[in-house]
Amino acid sequence: MHIIAIDGPVGSGKSTVARLLARRSGYACLDTGAMYRAMGWKAYTTGAPLNEEDLERLCVNTKLEIELTNDKQRIVIDGKDITAEIRTPEISKMASVVSRFASVRVYLVRLQRDIGLDWAGRYGGVIVEGRDIGTVVFPDAPVKFYLDADIQERGRRRWEELRGKGLEVDLDETTKGIIKRDESDKGRSVDPLRKADDAIVIDTTGLALKDVVERMMKEIQQRSH
Ligand code: C5P
Repeated sequence: MHIIAIDGPVGSGKSTVARLLARRSGYACLDTGAMYRAMGWKAYTTGAPLNEEDLERLCVNTKLEIELTNDKQRIVIDGKDITAEIRTPEISKMASVVSRFASVRVYLVRLQRDIGLDWAGRYGGVIVEGRDIGTVVFPDAPVKFYLDADIQERGRRRWEELRGKGLEVDLDETTKGIIKRDESDKGRSVDPLRKADDAIVIDTTGLALKDVVERMMKEIQQRSH
């Protein structure tokens, strides 16, 4: 049973490589950012006050389900499928805001461990991607990666992704938005984004993500023996 942790800032390529790795290995893939987005979406749509107590109540009264069908992850909150709705710039911002609260992190980290272990058992392995996977969620994962890339490239990747979804977005605004989210993720007091001491660092600037996947597959195979 394998757990592979992938962490890194916005646009480092982790979601794409995690999906490709899952396809290659047959493992399941858990996108933990989508779970923070789901709680951000709920806080946004209900207008919940942004403090520990109210957010804890919000979490306790939430049923968050992650469904995996044909290697696609669907996010269902209180019975409503919000998979597409959580990908807007507003919800990116809200995810970043709620992720600073310990009550939200405690709730989601527990859920991520439960789902990760369950899927690892069912699929022979799981690839978990986020910001604190190698440091907090699965600190004992046998293989950990930390992906990064320079800010211009990360901004462009995110901009292309949003435009691909039909959203009218500005490149500069998108880049500024990710700088802000990175600063918030790295600077928060609970579970900040940082590289685990034993993580393999890959700078994906200028690299084709399929080549990054090749390199990661080699590392995974080496470490599984
Ligand atoms: O990865 P994605 O951009 O979808 O994540 C949305 C937000 O959720 C991030 O900006 C970050 O603030 C938060 N997050 C987190 N810990 C994780 C995954 C995401 O704090 N493990």
